[in-house]
Amino acid sequence: MVGQLLTEEELILRNTVREFAEKEIAPRAAHYDETSEFPWDNIYGLGELGLFGLGIDEEYGGSGGTTRQVAIAVEEIARACAATSTTYAAHLSLAVQFIQMYGTEGQKRQFIPPLTTGRSIAAFALTEAGGGSDAGAIQTTATRSNGSYILNGSKTYITNAPEADIFVLLATMDRSLGTKGIIALVMESDTPGLTINPLHGKMGIRASSTAEVVFDNCEVPMENRLGNEGEGFRATMEMLNQSRISIAAQCIGLAQACYDAALKYAQERRAFGQRIADFQGLQWMLVDMATATEAARLLVQKAATLRDEGKPFATEASMAKLYGSRVAVENADKAVQIHGGAGYFAPTDVERYYRDAKIMEIYEGTSEIQRLIIARNLIPKE
Ligand SMILES: Cc1cc2nc3c(=O)[nH]c(=O)nc-3n(C[C@H](O)[C@H](O)[C@H](O)COP(=O)(O)OP(=O)(O)OC[C@H]3O[C@@H](n4cnc5c(N)ncnc54)[C@H](O)[C@@H]3O)c2cc1C
Repeated sequence: MVGQLLTEEELILRNTVREFAEKEIAPRAAHYDETSEFPWDNIYGLGELGLFGLGIDEEYGGSGGTTRQVAIAVEEIARACAATSTTYAAHLSLAVQFIQMYGTEGQKRQFIPPLTTGRSIAAFALTEAGGGSDAGAIQTTATRSNGSYILNGSKTYITNAPEADIFVLLATMDRSLGTKGIIALVMESDTPGLTINPLHGKMGIRASSTAEVVFDNCEVPMENRLGNEGEGFRATMEMLNQSRISIAAQCIGLAQACYDAALKYAQERRAFGQRIADFQGLQWMLVDMATATEAARLLVQKAATLRDEGKPFATEASMAKLYGSRVAVENADKAVQIHGGAGYFAPTDVERYYRDAKIMEIYEGTSEIQRLIIARNLIPKE
């Protein structure tokens, strides 16, 4: 066992989430991966534990809590089921946090309380077919009309969209203004003209739902705008900085799960008359996995601590996501290797981990985009 840098309160939270995740979520992970069903019982259970209110102010139905605490919860959920942690992080750290950070008092009181229960899900819709990394290139339009915005266009790869009651979305009022023309809106899923087309065939995190979202003259009241006109893009970039800490925590959870599975198997499997854990080659692999996981966890703790202390944290959040996602992919690779042929087959957990890990280098800003952000922050302009 390695030591912990957690406070007493954080340890209690970690142990509570871990216990629930090990008992309830992990045993169902292979089933949900195989069926691609949305894991409602995991979500309800996390809601009953109060985890959908974590990091949300008490006056809006949350339980308060720090960025460090949210990261701890995400890590423990991801350790049991990466797909469930994707649903949780997209809901909490993207959509609900956006409303909390940029909503008016009235918007927060109207939209957030049901979202803190685990009975109502939110989605965050930025990406479009023509604009993923290039988020400023979005084409979905919002046109003013009689106190409303009329939305037309479509989003793709939107996590939680099929189940969502609430969407936080970005649209442009005037493409010629570039990022300054972008606004953020909160929209209810029963808005006429909204169509959700679920996407199938994901490599991993199959129990998390992903969909195309189409707006055909959807009318959204102007009072549903989050922040001012022209400020939607800047708000999104700020919000993504903090949500990256959650994704980095998800990476550690999966990296830890890979290590746990590999260590267990290496002690059970025998070759050449001894445990494979006694071969130095495998010991070094295990040591590298544990060391990288610890380093990634420290980066997450640093980024989260800086945010909680009100200090700049964007560079550290990108570093945590960049490094953590690589560790998740590398640990998954080593975990399969340590399992030999068995690791190439379901239902070993490591086969799933290998497929689940890759998305972490892609969503919430690819690794190339993280490097771009870090370079902008580190390397002074001429
Ligand atoms: C399962 C899943 C869930 C998702 N959930 C959501 C969600 O809930 N909400 C949402 O809004 N989006 C979501 N996304 C979208 C995700 O954030 C984007 O896929 C991601 O940002 C990459 O965008 P893209 O797919 O358009 O790739 P592209 O932007 O086309 O990138 C293609 C390649 O080019 C590289 N590249 C692009 N620009 C640069 C550059 N300037 N310098 C160097 N390299 C560059 C990229 O790193 C990548 O390797 C999800 C995606 C997936 C797959």
